[in-house]
Amino acid sequence: MPLMKSWVASANDANHPFPLNNLPYGVFSTAGSEPRCSVAIGDMILDVSTAEAEGLITLGDEPLFDLPFWNPLMEQGPAVWAALRERLTALLAKGSKEQNKVEPLLVPQAEAQLHMPFAVSEYTDFYAGKHHATNVGTMFRGPENALPPNWLHIPIGYNGRASSVVVSGTDIRRPWGQLKSPDHDRPAFLPSRRFDIELEMGAIVGTPSDGPITVQEADDHIFGYVLLNDWSARDIQAWEYQPLGPFQAKATATSISPWIVTKAALDPFRCDAPPREVELLDHLKDCRPMLYDIELEVTMAPEGKPASTIARTNYKEMYYSSAQQLAHHTTSGCPMNVGDLLGSGTISGPTKDSRGSLLELSWGGKEPITLDTGETRSFIEDGDTLTLKGAARGDGYTIGFGDCTGTVLPALEDPYAR
Ligand code: MN
Repeated sequence: MPLMKSWVASANDANHPFPLNNLPYGVFSTAGSEPRCSVAIGDMILDVSTAEAEGLITLGDEPLFDLPFWNPLMEQGPAVWAALRERLTALLAKGSKEQNKVEPLLVPQAEAQLHMPFAVSEYTDFYAGKHHATNVGTMFRGPENALPPNWLHIPIGYNGRASSVVVSGTDIRRPWGQLKSPDHDRPAFLPSRRFDIELEMGAIVGTPSDGPITVQEADDHIFGYVLLNDWSARDIQAWEYQPLGPFQAKATATSISPWIVTKAALDPFRCDAPPREVELLDHLKDCRPMLYDIELEVTMAPEGKPASTIARTNYKEMYYSSAQQLAHHTTSGCPMNVGDLLGSGTISGPTKDSRGSLLELSWGGKEPITLDTGETRSFIEDGDTLTLKGAARGDGYTIGFGDCTGTVLPALEDPYAR
């Protein structure tokens, strides 16, 4: 499908992240106003909440946009998701008869503050990128034992914390934790020295389930996707993770991009998973293309300095799709809820410059990377700003996500000071 033209001129630029083909959902406020539901179009934001209040959008008897998150719309199910997309497309398309009614409800993005677009019910993070798992496994166990024996059969995951998921732009405080150096007999309580990012996509569950679901059902249940940075303290992780996996190393914060890009907008970019090295069990088998061709990039900017690109990769490098992860999540009978967030796992490509974490980029700190400013980095330093970017390139248009960014602040001097 080519670019769909809008009467919002900036939306018709082939490189603009928010054309009419995209229509991503967010929550915004302007000075002195309450946060409310909105959709991005070009460099403007349409106030969906007010559009509904004024009768321009009616999807049922009850209002869906009087709360500052998108969960009520998700709860309506795929038919209403499609009806809203159709209605927004009609309102914003070039030649719309209602342009004069919609125009007063547009706000420049430059004047808006963006908030969490949905209420995160629970958060699960996976370890489902093969290049990442191979790199990390090679560093810690050697190339012969890089992938654990279960890796090619199940998407490995852990239950993370919904309470520390934050929207892009939120500052991230360097955590303290228990660190154990091989040179010392006892651990010490210190600020993390190996604070890192993980470049991931987050899938948002839009349809609840109560019992095992198939991969195809799981794909149908996903509402949309965001960029996700799983901030990770590698030194805390190295000491705490055995035998139950990551805990405080991953609990400081998880940042997400501010706009939910719907599955409908990403549909033209679906692609197959890579060839399977061993046959998956039937309940996890691929049944249609469920990965997406989304270009991904990570930049790092030291405080007050320009940003350098430190990695470029693509979401299609994943081994397991979010649908397979969601299906696996339900196999035990685990209920899933609207607003559940599933982190894909770190997305690394096959080459050195396509690695989605500093752990891999600097090979555990042994090979520091050099930024365009000439500075070197093994892990994040105080004041560094890390940004994830994502874009799917269509026929004359781009589907963007909005940056997922965060600046790392120095650790507190004394975390127990009262
Ligand atoms: Mn992760």
